[in-house]
Amino acid sequence: MKIISINTGSSSLKFSFFNMTDKSLIASGLFERIGIEGSSYTIKYNGQKIREEIELANHTDAVKILLDKLVTLNIIKSFDEIDGVGHRLVHGKDKYKESCLITDEVINDLIVFKDFAPLHNPANVLGIKAFKEVLPTVPMVGVFDTAFHQTMSEEAYLYPVPYSWYKEHGVRKYGFHGTSHRYIAKTISEKLGRDDLRIISCHVGNGGSITAIKDGKCIDTSMGFTPLAGIMMGTRSGDVDPSIITYIMEQEGLNAKEVIDILNKKSGLLGLSEISSDMRDIVASMNDGNEKAKRAFLKYTRTVTNYIAQYYVLLGGADVICFTAGLGENSEPFRSKVCENLACLGIKIDKDANKVMGEFKKISTDDSNVLVYVVPTDEELMIALDTLKLIN
Ligand code: ADP
Repeated sequence: MKIISINTGSSSLKFSFFNMTDKSLIASGLFERIGIEGSSYTIKYNGQKIREEIELANHTDAVKILLDKLVTLNIIKSFDEIDGVGHRLVHGKDKYKESCLITDEVINDLIVFKDFAPLHNPANVLGIKAFKEVLPTVPMVGVFDTAFHQTMSEEAYLYPVPYSWYKEHGVRKYGFHGTSHRYIAKTISEKLGRDDLRIISCHVGNGGSITAIKDGKCIDTSMGFTPLAGIMMGTRSGDVDPSIITYIMEQEGLNAKEVIDILNKKSGLLGLSEISSDMRDIVASMNDGNEKAKRAFLKYTRTVTNYIAQYYVLLGGADVICFTAGLGENSEPFRSKVCENLACLGIKIDKDANKVMGEFKKISTDDSNVLVYVVPTDEELMIALDTLKLIN
């Protein structure tokens, strides 16, 4: 069985092609600047990487070229070898509680829900339609970023605002990065041979969210109605007092959309440090004695600590804390500071083990009250696994 995982953006299409017999990655790649001048694709396979600039007028062009290349590069002999296509879908509101076969109803819902993910849902539809056109008989599965968080209770997902906002306009916490958090919970449960774990999953990359998981189910998560909520991120503020929005509108003569744009794209590490949104730059500057970098680092790690502490209490303690994504997998100083902040909970990490980058590893000491692991995420594989399950 061979399955393609697809992540479509408004002008991009990322793919990972798996052999499901051994879950190995056969090929992966990216089509960029679709519909824009200067479009190109990159394909990695067999230890090689090819890149070509080629006109891609739309997503269907990208899919056609992708499939042709899989054949001409001898990755597959014919399209018949593709058993299924899994699509990363962003917003399924409260209707989609798990992955599902893609039908016309799913496509229609993605459009109906577009106000909840204006950049992503329409792009996801473009990807689905392109594959439908080029591979009409191959089954497709949709894997929603929001689905894993659908097990949250009302107490977790409601905001303390007029209830009619929820009933009439769908204002509630949805949560994101669900596929990654689900992969982390599955991986750590398999490795430890237990499915009754209290897990705090920290997906911290450029965007980031923390999720409290009990017995494999999401209890609460830090992102909210949109991915702007929760911990401080690379360029996003995370939680702030909403009154700041109207105050800054008046002070700087901006409209609400412009202020939200700043909270999404010019805040977080970038906003506070005035240096960079990338933790590597922040840590380097901090080590050079830069005070702005230091304050951004301290605020960042504090917001992550706060959520972990909150979820520790919510879960009645924790069996394991997992770090994943760009920073979670690679940043020793980030993990070290967050765990140091949590020392009063009896959390201790091993300095040498914490040097790990991008590998599954236990980083807590044997006398730590909570296990702490680095677990590399693999959303693409999770999408392929769901696809396999549903097409079978
Ligand atoms: P996205 O949320 O866009 O998927 P990633 O999970 O790829 O992001 O994370 C990207 C971020 O991870 C970078 O902005 C950087 O801050 C951080 N990062 C990646 N590698 C390292 C590293 N070696 N050390 C510290 N931070 C890193």
